[in-house]
Amino acid sequence: MSESLPSTAMPVSRLIEEFSKLPGVGPKSAQRLTYYLLRASQEDAQALAQAILEVKEKIILCSICQNITDSDPCAICNNDQRDRGIICVVEEPLDILALERTGSYRGMYHVLHGVISPMDGIGPDDLKIRELLARLKSDEVREVIMATNPNLEGEATSMYLTRLISPLGLKVTRLARGLPMGADLEYADNVTLARALEGRQEV
Ligand SMILES: [Zn+2]
Repeated sequence: MSESLPSTAMPVSRLIEEFSKLPGVGPKSAQRLTYYLLRASQEDAQALAQAILEVKEKIILCSICQNITDSDPCAICNNDQRDRGIICVVEEPLDILALERTGSYRGMYHVLHGVISPMDGIGPDDLKIRELLARLKSDEVREVIMATNPNLEGEATSMYLTRLISPLGLKVTRLARGLPMGADLEYADNVTLARALEGRQEV
C-alpha cells in the first residue's frame, strides 16, 4: 500500500499510511491531513490523539440494544419515557442517530452491527441476532420494526429476521418505501425518514 515517499521523514509517512487506512480517505487526503497536523498546535494534536484513544477505551456496547455507549444500559434503554413495546432493528449505530433526528420515534432500538452478506462471509451468527431474539421473549414487546437499509443485503436480512420473528406472534413492520432503493438510512433526510417510519407496513 505505502507508495514509498523516500524523501519523507519516517513519522510523517507513517501517519500518512495510518490515515490512508480510514474509509473515504485516499492517499491525497491522507497527505493533506498529515501536513495539516504538522502545522497544528501541540494541544490540537494531543486532543485528537486523546479523542481517538478514548473512543477505544471508553466506548462499549449496550448490553440491551447493542448500541455504542459509554454507560450500560445506554441513555435510550435507560429512558423510562420510551415505549418498550416497540423495537426498531437497525444495521449500525449511526442509523439510530438518523432516526432520533426525525424526533418521531419513541420506541427502543436494536443494533445488528451489519447485515447478512454471504459474499463477504457474514452470516446470521456474526450479527447481534441472538441478542435480539432474547429480548423478544419479554412480554413487553408488541412490534418489531425492520429498519435495515433498502438494498439487497438489507432486504435479505430483514426477510431472514421476519421469518424468525413472525412465529413468535409479534407484529413485524418494515419502513415504508419512501426511502430510495439502494439508499443508506444514515444519509436519508429527516422528512423522508419520518414518513418512512409513519408509513411502515406489516410484513
Ligand atoms: Zn441500549
